[in-house]
Amino acid sequence: MGRSFDAVIIGGGIMGAWIALELAQRGAGEILLLEKSSPGAGSSGKSGAILRQHYSHPTSICMARHSLDRYARFEEEFGIDIGFHRTGMVFIAGADSAADIEENVALQRQHGVDASVIGADELQELEPTGRFTEGECAAWEPEAGYVHPLRAVYGCLEVAMREGVTVRTGVAVRSIEVVQGRASAVRLDDGERVEAGHIINAAGPWARKLLEPHAGDLPLRAIRPEQAYFEPPSGSIEKRTIYGDMVTGLYWKPEAAGWTRVGCLSFDADPEVDPDHYDEGVDGRFIQRCRARLSERLPHYRRSASWGGCGALYTVTPDARAIIGPVAGIAGLTLVSGFSGHGFKMGPAVGCGVAGMVTGTETGPLEPEFFTVDRFSRVSTQGGRYSFGILG
Ligand SMILES: Cc1cc2nc3c(=O)[nH]c(=O)nc-3n(C[C@H](O)[C@H](O)[C@H](O)COP(=O)(O)OP(=O)(O)OC[C@H]3O[C@@H](n4cnc5c(N)ncnc54)[C@H](O)[C@@H]3O)c2cc1C
Repeated sequence: MGRSFDAVIIGGGIMGAWIALELAQRGAGEILLLEKSSPGAGSSGKSGAILRQHYSHPTSICMARHSLDRYARFEEEFGIDIGFHRTGMVFIAGADSAADIEENVALQRQHGVDASVIGADELQELEPTGRFTEGECAAWEPEAGYVHPLRAVYGCLEVAMREGVTVRTGVAVRSIEVVQGRASAVRLDDGERVEAGHIINAAGPWARKLLEPHAGDLPLRAIRPEQAYFEPPSGSIEKRTIYGDMVTGLYWKPEAAGWTRVGCLSFDADPEVDPDHYDEGVDGRFIQRCRARLSERLPHYRRSASWGGCGALYTVTPDARAIIGPVAGIAGLTLVSGFSGHGFKMGPAVGCGVAGMVTGTETGPLEPEFFTVDRFSRVSTQGGRYSFGILG
């Protein structure tokens, strides 16, 4: 006879980890987190883990704001260093997107974000080594930063375990058992059955497959973006700020060892993949394209050393917004997936919201209505303001 838990969380990515921590802190009973590989083995471990508040919808802005604050105070609150760095972030736009930037920044300011719109001259002051063109403008967010993704995942799990959560790694959930419209247990790969009062499917790119027998084909796709890493030439005096650049279509950020990570803002061209068999390497042509485009902005990168890169996984939905909430027609089952390229920063707010939904308590800045799966069957969905999905 297997054990029984009040809540079973499937997946030890940043979402599962924050949900475990928040459930434990709300005294939600006996909690088990199951991770088929090692924590962070999915999207989370390879994340840029950029924490910014530049969104175009009040719910996303408030969730990002709540989360940035939790990450920034994590070490003070829990005594664990998760590699938080406050670098500031710049979002560059061409003249065609200037009005969107103005409107977004005004909305962010209404919600307490320290953000302003700056022109090409101020950009030049901020980054003297950069090339900026008359007419370009940017949203400047000095509070933005990043964390070390794996340290953040392990940090949350450590706190959850201190609070009594059981974490089992190297243990895969094979199926979810549903009896008379209620999710009642999970079946593990070795055949063990674990009963659960509530099951939370936070399996990232694998979440759709686990739900297929019960919920049909949900609008979640696993796609494969690439990242490239460069080391700026020694002696470069570039400021180590995070950039999103709608003109070159890139984002870049400082990494450990003084490297710079570069990726694309748009994921429209990234192929759909099977998350169990995807190429974790990087195409040399991608590296060359990134270096060429980044050098248009920061010319010293023409002489940068390449440290290769990697292929990774995003889980995307048609409107680049996650699906969070109960699975229709199945009591006791919650889905938390579809964060595409911008979920890491939302982890604390998602943990808080899901813990609230499961225990019938406060959901904090997470508005359940904003993330329901049934929004895709309505006539129109509210996408983000930009054409770049990663910006939300
Ligand atoms: C290259 C890259 C850069 C990114 N940059 C940023 C960024 O700068 N800022 C930002 O906010 N977001 C960023 N993101 C997005 C962010 O990282 C993701 O949205 C987030 O990590 C998703 O977390 P998750 O917990 O939902 O999924 P995952 O991290 O994929 O976790 C799911 C976990 O479930 C486990 N699992 C799956 N199936 C089972 C099963 N059957 N049984 C048990 N366990 C199972 C997996 O092994 C995995 O560990 C980036 C993502 C990538 C890939």
